[in-house]
Amino acid sequence: MSLLVVGSVALDTVETPFGTIKEGLGGSATYFSTAASFFTDVQLVAVIGEDFPEEHIRFLKERKVDLEGLERNMGKTFRWQGEYGYQLNEAKTLKTDLNVFELFRPKLPTAYTKAPYLFLGNIDPTIQLDVMKQVVAPKVIACDTMNFWISGNRDGLLKTLAGVHILMINEGEARALSGEFNLVKAAKVILSLGPKTLIVKRGEYGALMFNDNKIFAVPAYPLESVFDPTGAGDSFAGGFMGVIAQNADRANISDATLRQAAIYGSVMASFCVEAFSLDRMRSLTQDDINRRYLAFKDLTGYEYTA
Ligand code: AMP
Repeated sequence: MSLLVVGSVALDTVETPFGTIKEGLGGSATYFSTAASFFTDVQLVAVIGEDFPEEHIRFLKERKVDLEGLERNMGKTFRWQGEYGYQLNEAKTLKTDLNVFELFRPKLPTAYTKAPYLFLGNIDPTIQLDVMKQVVAPKVIACDTMNFWISGNRDGLLKTLAGVHILMINEGEARALSGEFNLVKAAKVILSLGPKTLIVKRGEYGALMFNDNKIFAVPAYPLESVFDPTGAGDSFAGGFMGVIAQNADRANISDATLRQAAIYGSVMASFCVEAFSLDRMRSLTQDDINRRYLAFKDLTGYEYTA
């Protein structure tokens, strides 16, 4: 079952305490679609400029991501520059150059309008809404955003959120969106804006999933070496929505599926941070994914007998 993503395809310049990468492959839709491609068919909607390197297109094609919705327009590709301190949980944005995204108004290829699963990756909420309206009968719509849009296009974001089922944001964003510091209170406010499920990503502390009156906690996998957290959130979302799309026939997503999706999200995020850009994804195998899934079960499972 097809999973449609709209988001950024970018050239990222990133500095972490462990090194620097200049204009590497990045972008929310890139990380998402690559992670999701291990689970399901992915259709990508985004824009690149004339300067976008062919090798990156080849990489996405090798991952079997459908690129019919990737427009190449006159101008420069979106660029993002960020840095992380030893506290790797949140990026400090140094520069955002929207470039071709500034005028991007996607027109979905006909085949894409039937996508049952939709992920609105981090991009201008006005574009997210535009895409959401073009999909005819989506079963599940998930969404990400960031402070840049929470403060830069709040009205647009609130309109998008009204139609979204699952929102995945990090804890700083949850606080900025809700105006509440405490995450349980923040979740209550956010769940009143539209989404039925909220996932709050907390970097090395994992993620919290809130729905109805339930909370599920998933840890981040404890790794010996973390190089670059960029894209961890989108890789989480890719694994998560990939599992949701695999459970296509179920009309209602069960709690158990949501929980399993969150674990696979964490699995994909844990691989993402092991190398710069999408480099770890290039050699990743299904076996690696299965092994880490089992390691997660081992990490979190316990039995108690009195
Ligand atoms: P994350 O998964 O949250 O670490 O997302 C990282 C990706 O988001 C990077 O590869 C950036 O290219 C992309 N990004 C950063 N800022 C923006 C923005 N304002 N709009 C769209 N994409 C962005």
